[in-house]
Amino acid sequence: HVKHSIAGPRSIISGTILFSPMNYSEEFDVLVIGGGHAGAEAALAAARMGVSTLLLTHNMDTLGQMSCNPSIGGIGKGHLVKEVDALGGAMAWATDQAGIQFRILNRSKGPAVRATRAQADRSLYRRAIRMILQGQKNLMIFQQAVDDLILEGDRVVGARTQIGLVFRARAVVLTAGTFLNGLMHVGLSHYAAGRAGDPPATSLGERLKELKLPQGRLKTGTPPRIDAKTIDFSKTEIQPGDTDPVPVFSFLGRADMHPEQVPCWITHTNERSHEIVRSGLDRSPMYSEQGTIEGIGPRYCPSIEDKIHRFADKASHQVFLEPEGASSCEIYPNGISTSLPFDIQFALVRSLPGLENARIMRPGYAIEYDYFDPRHLHAWLETRAIRGLFFAGQVNGTTGYEEAAAQGLLAGANAALQALGREPWTLDRSQAYLGVLADDLVTKGVTEPYRMFTSRAEYRLSLREDNADLRLTEMGRTLGLVDDARWDAFCRKRDAVEAEIQRLRETRVNPAVLDAHVRERMALQRLDRHPSLLDLLRRPDVEYDALMALRDAQGAPLAGPGLADPAQAEQVGIQAKYAGYVDRQRDEIERQKAQADQAVPQDFDYAGVAGLSTEVRQRLEASRPATIGQAARISGVTPAAVSLLLVHLKRHA
Ligand code: FAD
Repeated sequence: HVKHSIAGPRSIISGTILFSPMNYSEEFDVLVIGGGHAGAEAALAAARMGVSTLLLTHNMDTLGQMSCNPSIGGIGKGHLVKEVDALGGAMAWATDQAGIQFRILNRSKGPAVRATRAQADRSLYRRAIRMILQGQKNLMIFQQAVDDLILEGDRVVGARTQIGLVFRARAVVLTAGTFLNGLMHVGLSHYAAGRAGDPPATSLGERLKELKLPQGRLKTGTPPRIDAKTIDFSKTEIQPGDTDPVPVFSFLGRADMHPEQVPCWITHTNERSHEIVRSGLDRSPMYSEQGTIEGIGPRYCPSIEDKIHRFADKASHQVFLEPEGASSCEIYPNGISTSLPFDIQFALVRSLPGLENARIMRPGYAIEYDYFDPRHLHAWLETRAIRGLFFAGQVNGTTGYEEAAAQGLLAGANAALQALGREPWTLDRSQAYLGVLADDLVTKGVTEPYRMFTSRAEYRLSLREDNADLRLTEMGRTLGLVDDARWDAFCRKRDAVEAEIQRLRETRVNPAVLDAHVRERMALQRLDRHPSLLDLLRRPDVEYDALMALRDAQGAPLAGPGLADPAQAEQVGIQAKYAGYVDRQRDEIERQKAQADQAVPQDFDYAGVAGLSTEVRQRLEASRPATIGQAARISGVTPAAVSLLLVHLKRHA
């Protein structure tokens, strides 16, 4: 699909300088701007779907760069990573190659809120992402800053780089992260940057302002990095990763892919630390009168100055000391993100137990950047105003690598579908956290950097990490996102789980053949009832392994040997135990869907609906929901207003 054209040379007189530019232009199906987490997944998704794709980024050495904490996953975020993986994405696979500590959070709670988290080796992660990108068929990578978008009418047709190269495309995915008009703050000093060590995207930021897409400013921050050699870890608490079993992220991952595993450590702030922070507030870009930060920061990832301000009665906060990787002596002190002046950062760090002699290797800072109001996007992340232009990642007002990656995959796949002339692909809230994320963004917008939580999903019992593949891989295969190796592994797992559940359903146990103490343990005192193995597994206190170990009084196995693969066995256990709840949830989803799926025309005349308040009408006009379900989720749109809409639609059908 790739077309090259080199016309020229042509001379232009500009002032006193004589240019002889090569009028170089190239054409692709999909152009992705930015090689962060959204950009990498967008480019990979488009290329996997078979369209010619170009990834244009500032610097090829920062592909997959983690701007802040080198960790992937956590509650809600881990769910997104597994979904991206189930759809063929790179994040989980790269984490399995780069993770230096893996943990399952909420292990003792129900499977819906269990989540995988990994500490990554920053440079191994970059390397893994780069290898995946380089190895992807149909994908080209080019290092250049994009300064301009090329439009024809209301459609984007390409982009122009800093040195004037033109790349034309049928669809463009913009994933510029924190770089658009990025402004870094340390104390009262500030300067333009995309993040520490990287230039901002100022020309592109200005061009997007000209296009009058609704936008605002947000901010985020990062802590100073500490030299591990200067920390006395004996004064801190060690926090090892999980060992039995060692978790993996990707459905194709294996623990033997992980590099050497290391522990993290925990220390705490104290009254003196808090006093130091308070003493610097008069030079804080956030809190002092001379401070210039306008953007709103992430409520769930607050800076240490925010924490001390908001939770003034708390005498101490936890600080996790997280290694950045085997080839780095830097420690990421998770919990003290700050934009206070450097002298305050230095004193704060030295007030922490174990860090009395610590040396800072990089200062902490905050960054402000432009984002675009995501209510002006379709659910497939294409802008409503400019056809063919998709936005994904931090530019949509989210925060986090995982949120960015998930949007990147959705936008990249849809850009490819558009290039192929196919219908857009969307996910709804009952199918995936990715559906919840996209729906929250396009219907509610953001007032602060948005991050994912399990509490955002109303159907979280069905949207578990463990079944992300069962929910999504088939869909990914139909779209062309899932390759043969993943598909084969998925089919093997799906079929083995189904066959095993069938076997358990059909195999009945005669309690009379069991020893009396086993009968009692299994609550099988009634000898006239012969429950199936599935009935037994449904009991909260019976685990799959214990069931497979059941023997009759002579020692012969009754149920085993069962499935050897732990992931398959876990899936059988979860499906058996939660079937009742999940079935009830499915019925409720069906009921609500019937109403929520009702389409609302894009040119719907809200002024014609009698009884709608002006405020509700304006909110609906601003968001232009595609369905009744989307309308109902817009904040301020009451159930009564939804009923009025439904009546109006029915009357005018
Ligand atoms: P990015 O990872 O920012 O990638 C953007 C990419 O686009 C870069 O490769 C850049 O070079 C490229 N690019 C930009 N403009 C152009 C252009 N004009 N031409 C070519 N290439 C371009 N997340 C959290 O979850 N918690 C936190 O506490 C947190 N703190 C953060 C602190 C800081 C200081 C920063 C910078 C980020 C922080 N993040 C945090 C956010 C996290 O880094 C982002 O959410 C994530 O990286 C977003 O991914 P992205 O792909 O959207 O953008």
